[in-house]
Amino acid sequence: MDYKASENIQDLQYFGEFGGVNPSISDSSTYTFLSAKTMFDTFEGNTEGCYLYSRHSSPSNLYLGEALAQLEGTESANVYASGMGAISSVIMQLCDANEHIVCSRTIYGGTYAFLKNFLKKFNISTSFIDITNLEIVEQSITPKTKMIYCEAVSNPLLEVADIQSLSRLAKKHGIPLVVDNTFSPLNINAAKLGADVVIHSLTKFINGSSDCVAGAVCASTDFCLSLKDVNDGAGMLLGSTLDSLRAASILKNMRTLHVRIKKHSENAHYLATAFEKDGLKVVYPGLESHPGHETMKNQMNAEYGFGGLMTLDVGSLENANALMELMQKEKLGYLAVSLGFYKTLFSAPGTSTSSEIPLEEQEELGLSQGLIRFSIGLDNDIHKTYLTMRSCMEKLDILPRKAVLV
Ligand code: PLP
Repeated sequence: MDYKASENIQDLQYFGEFGGVNPSISDSSTYTFLSAKTMFDTFEGNTEGCYLYSRHSSPSNLYLGEALAQLEGTESANVYASGMGAISSVIMQLCDANEHIVCSRTIYGGTYAFLKNFLKKFNISTSFIDITNLEIVEQSITPKTKMIYCEAVSNPLLEVADIQSLSRLAKKHGIPLVVDNTFSPLNINAAKLGADVVIHSLTKFINGSSDCVAGAVCASTDFCLSLKDVNDGAGMLLGSTLDSLRAASILKNMRTLHVRIKKHSENAHYLATAFEKDGLKVVYPGLESHPGHETMKNQMNAEYGFGGLMTLDVGSLENANALMELMQKEKLGYLAVSLGFYKTLFSAPGTSTSSEIPLEEQEELGLSQGLIRFSIGLDNDIHKTYLTMRSCMEKLDILPRKAVLV
C-alpha cells in the first residue's frame, strides 16, 4: 500500500470567513434562496454548491466528508450522527425486504444486533460466517445476497479480513463489499484494497477525544448522493445527520490522526510483545502468532503499525474484573467501553460491547469471559506502563509462574 492518506488530508485547506486557519462553522439549519426556482432545483438535486437544510448537507459536514474521502481514497464521504447511524443507513440503502447479507461472525455487538434482531422486521436475513474462510464466504452467497459485510480488524477478536480477496469474490458475484474500518483508520485503506463502501465510527480513533459520537460512509459519489436523496435516501430519511458544530470539531481533531495512530500502534505493539513473552494469552495483529498477521502485513500502511487494540485472556470473568478495577485504581486507564482515547480504555467484551451475542455463540467464536479488550493510550513511557500493569497482575496472581521480569 502506498496511498498517502495523511498527506492528502493535511493538504486540504479550508479558511474561515475572516481568513481564519479553520473553516467557519455553518451555524444554520436552513438556508435562504434568492429565487424560488433555485430552491426547487436544489430539492431535485440539480444545484451544485447550494445548501437547503442541514439534515441534507451543510458546509461543515461537507468539509469533514472531504477529509474522510481523502482518508480512504474514495470519491466522496457522508457524515452521520453515530457509527450506527452510518451502518444502519448503508445496510438499509443496499438491502430491500426479504433479501440477504453475508457477514463476518465477529463484529461489533450493535451491528450484530441490528442485523440479527432489528432487520427481522423486514425479513432480511444474515449468514454470520468465518470471514477468513473464503470458501465458506462464497458458499454463503445466494441470489438474494445484497452485500458482504465485515470489519477490517474485527471487534473484539481482532480478526483480520483479507479485503482484496473478499473484494474479488464480491465482484465475481456482482455485490458490494462493505467494510467497517473503525479499528484501523490509516493503518488500512479499505477502499484502496477494493472495498466498495467503507464505514467508520468517528467516535473512536478519528475523533480521538471521547467527547462525541459520530460516523462516516466513504464511497462513490453516486452512492453517497443516493444516501442523501430526498425521496429514498436512508441517511436523509432516517435522519441520522451529524450536527455542524461536531463536524467542525472532529475535522480539527482529525488533523492529528497520523501522529496519534503511530503512537497508539507503537505502545500496543510494545505491550503485546512483552506480555506474550510473559506467557500471557495475547491477541495483537502485530504478533507473528496472530493468524491474520501476514494478511495484515500485506494490506497495511506499514508506517502506522498494527493498530492500537489488543486483547488479553486472563482466564475468568472474576480475574478480568479484578484486574480492570485494579488497573483503574493504579491510573493505568479507565474501565470503559469505546476506543481511541489518549488514555488506555479496557472492558470485558463478553459482558459489555458484545453482550448482544448469546453466550453459546460467544464461546463458539472464542470470545471467552476472561477476555479483556484494551485500547492502548498515548502513554509517554510505555515501559513504565508495562511494569505497573505487570505488578497489578502479580498482585492478583494472574501472571503465569514462568514470567520473570526482564
Ligand atoms: N463499528 C465498530 C467496529 C464499533 O466498535 C462501534 C462501536 O463501538 C461502532 C461501529 C458503532 O459506532 P457508534 O458507537 O459511533 O455508533
